[in-house]
Amino acid sequence: MKRTKIVATIGPATDSREKIKQLIMAGMNVARINFSHGDHASNGKLIAHIKELRTELAMPVGILADLQGPRIRTVVDEEVDIVKGEKIIVVDGLDSAQVSNSRFLVPKQISEANLKNYKVVGLDWKGIIADIEMGHDILIEDGLMKVTVVEKYKDYLVAKVKDGGTVKNHKGVNIPDAKLNVGVVTEKDEKDLHFALESDVDFVALSFVSNAQEILDVKEKIKKILGQTGQLPQIVAKIERKEAIKNIVEIIHAADVIMVARGDLGIEMEESRVVIYQKEITARCLRSATPVIVATQMLNSMIENPRPTRAEVSDVSNAVIDHADAVMLSGETANGKYPIETVHIMKEIITNTEKSPFDFLEHGFLRDEEASVSAAIAHSAHELSKDIHAVAIVAASVSGFTARMITRHRPANHVFVITNNVKTHNQLSLVWGVESFILPECQDLDELIDRSVEALKENKKIKTKDKLVMVAGRPGIAREHMSLIKVEEVG
Ligand code: PEP
Repeated sequence: MKRTKIVATIGPATDSREKIKQLIMAGMNVARINFSHGDHASNGKLIAHIKELRTELAMPVGILADLQGPRIRTVVDEEVDIVKGEKIIVVDGLDSAQVSNSRFLVPKQISEANLKNYKVVGLDWKGIIADIEMGHDILIEDGLMKVTVVEKYKDYLVAKVKDGGTVKNHKGVNIPDAKLNVGVVTEKDEKDLHFALESDVDFVALSFVSNAQEILDVKEKIKKILGQTGQLPQIVAKIERKEAIKNIVEIIHAADVIMVARGDLGIEMEESRVVIYQKEITARCLRSATPVIVATQMLNSMIENPRPTRAEVSDVSNAVIDHADAVMLSGETANGKYPIETVHIMKEIITNTEKSPFDFLEHGFLRDEEASVSAAIAHSAHELSKDIHAVAIVAASVSGFTARMITRHRPANHVFVITNNVKTHNQLSLVWGVESFILPECQDLDELIDRSVEALKENKKIKTKDKLVMVAGRPGIAREHMSLIKVEEVG
């Protein structure tokens, strides 16, 4: 079995029940619904298909609702060619009919004669001009074009073109150095969030996160919406802004899952630094037992071709070697020509990498941390399982915490997780190495152990005489999740 999980984006190439089933059978563990596309009716249909299929196949499959976030876009009424060295006017909050004429609305700092020569590019976010300072770069269409602010006025900016091109309407804009006061949940996201919660998704991904407070605010908002009734989705913080890199320690602490969103990150930072951040973030997440997804362009050429490039294969392999919990496919499965083949190939790369010694965890990697009782028990369970050649570590886990604490050691033996919580079962689909099983709540520890062993035997995961290391908490002890290790021989 592969241990690193696969997140695949569902899109026009895979939006039927049959295709989603094929994705699951090929190795998809988590289905990502990108709320930048589709509407509630179409996205709701995808969610319904996934829910039906995971029941039919009796397999956990996580559902991740990825909110668009405060994506800034260009506004022009017709395409504008901007040329290296020239100065342009940048305005905000106007519609396309108003943008070209807005040069005549700007105050007189620029002489009348000159004014008509200035080309104008609008940004769709009203008020954003206030957050952009002299010297800031404005990147247009995935960084294809770059202008630098050289004059700042109340209602507009004058920017010098560094990299020219043709500015089209509704193209993505990045302003890496600005401290943007745009919030992380837009009006559209607010509606999508309500819809995602009604649909009972397992993960909600926040795009363009800057700091931990934004994540904590969304968690509070979700708790208010769901009240006492609903089970919380886990929050995935997408790391794609310079600000997020600065605040990465507190963000990892506040979020449930981290996504290294290399697409936008590679626009906001030099591309050559992205892999360094990917490695640093993955290592930090492993230490703190926070699941981490490495995303974007992993097998990008398979959007068009049936085989990946050698460099793409290396990229997936290296993410496994870095100990990511999951690797993600975007365009490859959403609108590529070979979506199912891409998942098959990704699974093959993962499996072959995991067979090699290169993905072993360096000895002592987790040693310097402050050990809580849970951390010490997870460490001991891992060591014990090696010493007695146990076939598996079996963990009873309600929230998934115990499972994450154990798998961060990247044990070579199986990790079976027994839970009575369906949401946890589906959320663990993202966590490295976990195979989870649902068991109704047990009266006491003996019953839990007996029934766990029975369930694993029934599923042909273990056999008579196999040694297991069992890890469990004790009911009623809220502060420490784990308190017990037991060696069991299967009867
Ligand atoms: C990314 O930028 O890498 C990413 C995953 O975000 P999105 O696909 O939503 O732009």
